[in-house]
Amino acid sequence: MTRSRRALGCVLLATLLAGTAPGSVAIANAKDQSLGIQSTVSLPSHAQGNPPPWSGKAFRQGVVAVANPYAAEAGAQILESGGNAVDAAVAIAYALNVVEPQSAGIGGGGFMMIHQAKTGETVAIDSRERAPAAATPDMFVGVPNASLQGVAVGVPGMVRGTEMALERYGNLSLARTLQPAIKLADDGFAATPRYSAASCSSRARNSPEAEAYFCPDGVAPVVGSLVQNKPLAETFRLIATNGADCFYVYQPEKGCDIAKGIVEGQKFNRPQAPNGKGGSMTYADLENYQATLRTPTESTYRGYKLRLMSSPSSGGLTVTQMLKMLERLPLGDESQGFGFGSPKTVNVMVDAMRLAFADRSVWMGDSDFVREPSRGLVHPDYVALRGAAIVPGARITPNPSPGDPRPFEDPDVEAGTLMPTAEPVTGPGETTTHFSVVDKWGNLVSYTNTIESGHGIGVFAGYRGADQPFRNFGFLLNNEMTDFNLTPTVNPYTGEPGFNDVQPGKRPRSSMTPTLILTPDGKPLVAFGSPGGSTIINSVFNVALNLIDHRMSIQDAIDAPRVSVTSTASSVSLEDGFPAETVNVLRGLGYTVSTGADIGSVQAVVVDPKTGKQYGGADPRREGTVIGLPRP
Ligand code: GLU
Repeated sequence: MTRSRRALGCVLLATLLAGTAPGSVAIANAKDQSLGIQSTVSLPSHAQGNPPPWSGKAFRQGVVAVANPYAAEAGAQILESGGNAVDAAVAIAYALNVVEPQSAGIGGGGFMMIHQAKTGETVAIDSRERAPAAATPDMFVGVPNASLQGVAVGVPGMVRGTEMALERYGNLSLARTLQPAIKLADDGFAATPRYSAASCSSRARNSPEAEAYFCPDGVAPVVGSLVQNKPLAETFRLIATNGADCFYVYQPEKGCDIAKGIVEGQKFNRPQAPNGKGGSMTYADLENYQATLRTPTESTYRGYKLRLMSSPSSGGLTVTQMLKMLERLPLGDESQGFGFGSPKTVNVMVDAMRLAFADRSVWMGDSDFVREPSRGLVHPDYVALRGAAIVPGARITPNPSPGDPRPFEDPDVEAGTLMPTAEPVTGPGETTTHFSVVDKWGNLVSYTNTIESGHGIGVFAGYRGADQPFRNFGFLLNNEMTDFNLTPTVNPYTGEPGFNDVQPGKRPRSSMTPTLILTPDGKPLVAFGSPGGSTIINSVFNVALNLIDHRMSIQDAIDAPRVSVTSTASSVSLEDGFPAETVNVLRGLGYTVSTGADIGSVQAVVVDPKTGKQYGGADPRREGTVIGLPRP
């Protein structure tokens, strides 16, 4: 797919021109201090509550920004029929299961961040998969290709999560919001380029039934050809008629046998793998699954408020650390050698990532199970101490070790000694999906949803009775458990099991980071997020800097090339589009730089708090689609 990226100079020119508009004069340092910023950097005028220089078409009745056009349409229709942002988000999530089944669906889970216009409150519904009760820290040891085996399947959360969202915040029923997805699965859709390109991956062909559906006779559906999923339509109808319990509780007398399909499906082990291992999930694991309401991580950056996904995501804390470490530097100021994409800017961004990912590898995990030092990790003194290692024009060497944030939230804890530690396991793929919605009342949703790898474990929920054909439920099972540490580790400070080691009922550490940027007085401006494994964190970080420091419009902020490092090492990934000088300077400083691969897929909606006008931005890296209402 071609990507429309403006030349760097044009982006900067547009940004600078917008920056000279009336009312955009940099504000005084006194104002900075009243915003609680310990920095000499002057704020752009929009940090006072004025919006950045949004461009694009404005709407008033709602906007959806989704990584697939059919699912965007599903959300727009729900908004048009009186649904609110939560109703539309639920409809989009189910529709994506049909049209982007490689990325997400009811076999997986995610995080739905909801901002309510009436109360100003932001919550997150955590429908992340949980480890079965019989899961053990060493369950992956000696299992070849564990992410392709049933042992990788976590108890799915999306159905309970969407049920909770609608009950608490929606206007419409689950049955109503399922209608667009049922229609898409029944009537079919035209295969999109991305659907087609993913369909014959080795994961899509991991089981005979998935191969027969996605890649029949070894050939992917041609772009534009009709794709239907009748079994999934039937599964959705069962849920629409009987409610979420029909997914989680085996009730054959009611026709609810989806749970049997999940339990049998996750017993899968690859016939071709001698030490294959199925999962241990039981009916009780499914019955006990609960979605959880979370309070987002709160932060500020140059006067803006940010609300980001909290544990079991590592995203909120890691992005906050990176932003706060760089807040002392004038990233937007070209005259000081910074500015978008300059060697100096990318250099300090990269080292902020390396420092934050060092802490992430030790201190972040499911805080229902481990004592994540969430206050210490973002304490101003701790962040200042860590961030002092960032020196423009130099590369942090040797690779940074994790710090010890505990004394910064509990003075009784003495800082420990530094020891090497395990690196995170997750990685990006053709998977996961992010979308954002705003409705006519000003409610916002930022929702990242996943089955982990592209096509999950490549196995449909389903079962085979004696002499019966395969009863297929039409949705793929996740491989989310491989977001845990694959081998047991030890926290080098506490001596306890690693914070992201497997435990029964625990959720694997995620990188998914649905995010909201608000004005200093708490009015929502932007809802956004991204897929991409641990690169999600960096996509969110890049886009936040593009908006706040580089003053880009939302679409420019999404289109602009991104930089990512997901470990403490000096291996930097740069998308195409950075100046050659930036690549050369980084290499000269000793970084290993790889270029060319896409990073993330950001979908965003924007509200101008002064006028109430709404905007959308979608990512050309995938099939990003914005629909604004009313339609022309
Ligand atoms: N499972 C990953 C996570 O929760 C997301 C996978 C992806 O985005 O590719 O962090």
